Amino acid sequence: MTIHGSCACGAVRFAIQGTPSNLGTCHCSRCRKLGASTIVFINRDQFQLLEGADHIETIQPQAPYTYTRSFCRSCGTALGEPLSPDESFPINAHCLDDDPGIAHSFHEFTDDRPAWDRPE
Ligand SMILES: [Zn+2]
Ligand SMILES: [Zn+2]
Repeated sequence: MTIHGSCACGAVRFAIQGTPSNLGTCHCSRCRKLGASTIVFINRDQFQLLEGADHIETIQPQAPYTYTRSFCRSCGTALGEPLSPDESFPINAHCLDDDPGIAHSFHEFTDDRPAWDRPE
């Protein structure tokens, strides 16, 4: 199975081979503000950047944060961490154009969830 993904303007396009290992939402303020709070975790060998390497801008973390974040320079879409050196890394689930074939399975940092963002 190939899952395609892209940013809002289409400059950045990627493909994921096979099923992501996880799909969930991080409610910490950083993920929320950077716009990539619902993520899929994939392994490096599953990920293929098809187009737009020169459109990907990366911001370096400031302590205490440790992960770089990437976004499309043209449209601002948060991509997750496609340039991570790690063997497994998160990609913004909102960028997926195809069904990843797995259910939403976790919520983390739920204590950081703002009052307006609670299940009704
Ligand atoms: Zn874009
Ligand atoms: Zn987070």
